[in-house]
Amino acid sequence: MYLKRLEVKGFKSFADKVDLEFGKGITAIVGPNGSGKSNISDAIRWVLGEQSAKTLRGGKMEDVIFSGTENRKALGCAEVSLTIDNTNKILPLEYSEITVTRRLYRSGESEYLINNTIVRLKDIVELFMDTGIGKDGYSLIGQGKIDEILSTKSEERRNIFEEAAGIVKYKTRKQEAERKLENTKQNLIRLNDIINELE
Ligand code: ATP
Repeated sequence: MYLKRLEVKGFKSFADKVDLEFGKGITAIVGPNGSGKSNISDAIRWVLGEQSAKTLRGGKMEDVIFSGTENRKALGCAEVSLTIDNTNKILPLEYSEITVTRRLYRSGESEYLINNTIVRLKDIVELFMDTGIGKDGYSLIGQGKIDEILSTKSEERRNIFEEAAGIVKYKTRKQEAERKLENTKQNLIRLNDIINELE
C-alpha cells in the first residue's frame, strides 16, 4: 500500500488542476518559499477528513478554496483526490486502487467520495482507521509533530501505539455500542415511567 497519486484543483494556491504521481520510493518536493509545498501536505490532510481550519493554517474552512490573485478570479470549489495502491488489500475494500475525494463549495456544501461514489466522512475515517494513514495517523508527520509526541502525556502517546496495533477500530466500535446501550437504557426508563403513569 502506498500513496500513488494526488490531484488538486482549486485548493489553496493550486487554481488549475495539478496531478502529482508518486513512485514507490522517496519523493521530495522542493521549491522556493511560498511556492506551495506545505499546501500539498495540507491537501493530503484535508482529503483524509481534517475538520480543523487551524491545522490547515487557515481561519475558516473556506480558506482552502483558491481565493484569487491579481490576474485571476477566486474559484467557487476546492477538490482534492488521493489515490492509494491497495494491491496488498491492507485497506478493507476489494479494489486494488482506492481514490478518496473531497469537495468543498463556497456555499459551505461539501462532498466525500470513495472511488467516485458519494460516502459519509465517517466512511473515510473508518477506511483508514488502524492503518496509520488517517488525518491523525502517524504517516503524516508535520512540523513540530515529533516534539509534540515526545512531550505529550503517556496516555496520549498510547493512541499512536494503539493505531499501529490495529485496535482503534474496536475501541471506537465499543464506544459506539456503549453509547447506544446508554440511549436504550434511558428509553427504557422513560417507557417504564409512562407505563406507571397509565396503570
Ligand atoms: P515555505 O517554504 O515558506 O514554508 P511553502 O512552499 O510551503 O513555503 P505554502 O505555505 O505551501 O508554501 O504556500 C503559501 C502560498 O499559498 C502563499 O503564497 C499563499 O498566498 C498561498 N495560498 C494559501 N491559501 C490560498 C488560497 N486560498 N488561495 C490562493 N492562494 C493561497
